[in-house]
Amino acid sequence: MPFSDLRQRLSGWRVALATLVAAFTFAAPAAGAVKVITSTEDLAAIVGEVGGDRVDVESLARGYQDPHLVEPKPSFILKLHSADLLVVVGRELEVGWLPRLVQQSRNSRIQPGGSGYLDASLNARILDIPTGEVSRAMGDVHPLGNPHYWLDPDNGRRIAQAVRDRLSQISPGDAQEFARRYADFDRRLAEAEKRWDGLMAPYRGVEIVTYHRSWSNLAERFGLKVIGYVEPKPGIPPSPAHTLALTQEMKQRGVRLIIVEPYFDVRTPNSIARASGARVLVLTPSVGGVKEAGTYIALFDYNLRLLASALQPAGAR
Ligand SMILES: [Zn+2]
Repeated sequence: MPFSDLRQRLSGWRVALATLVAAFTFAAPAAGAVKVITSTEDLAAIVGEVGGDRVDVESLARGYQDPHLVEPKPSFILKLHSADLLVVVGRELEVGWLPRLVQQSRNSRIQPGGSGYLDASLNARILDIPTGEVSRAMGDVHPLGNPHYWLDPDNGRRIAQAVRDRLSQISPGDAQEFARRYADFDRRLAEAEKRWDGLMAPYRGVEIVTYHRSWSNLAERFGLKVIGYVEPKPGIPPSPAHTLALTQEMKQRGVRLIIVEPYFDVRTPNSIARASGARVLVLTPSVGGVKEAGTYIALFDYNLRLLASALQPAGAR
């Protein structure tokens, strides 16, 4: 298509969008629930725990998507336009798709630094913070530390605290209800952690390999040691030399498990597994990635059950 046609099409699209935004603004309910948009389903699940029916929460990304690589859609701009609060994972997880949409939303509340912008990473414990000079030009998509921090239940708790505090500022009349719901979530999470600790206790110190650096927090919390990654660097696809070195390392150390996120090609992990005598286990890093992982607590129940069963000695299965 010639460039001028493309430009015409784009400008037509902008007009249509402006009309839609105007219509949506007019139709948006004035009172009632706080309208919250989150970048991921994990954050939406936690907002739902704390907010209950006092919030109307929706995630832009779906749990089965790679959160680094979400396809931006015009509908996202509409959702952002009318949001009272935007909660993001931060640490540049969404840098490839979200900042432009936030800008285009023409919603001053949810711009970074605004009263309706919450970067959940600011209240979380972050691993893998680089010490040397880091540049995205080198391809590393984790330049500000590991953005997959929600996979430690204590970080889920910290995210919930930040959400409780911010929702209470936005809707002070509901602050008591948010505090009550947070306390209930905290109690259920603590109960679940006892269950998970029991399940994972036999596997403390076990060495594993993962595809992407998604599982640092989960592994640390439950005592697993990640000794290598299928990706040479976060965001860089596997290379033959790296694959060979990783396979040798795994053979030498007797590593039996490779964890793969559902959105990566399993061919390389499968061939590493064949050559090293390990097995591949697909786990879901996000709420909604599979139907069994429909809540934040269910996400851990689902993954840890699969993990414990894969780590069980062959005779005990
Ligand atoms: Zn990542």
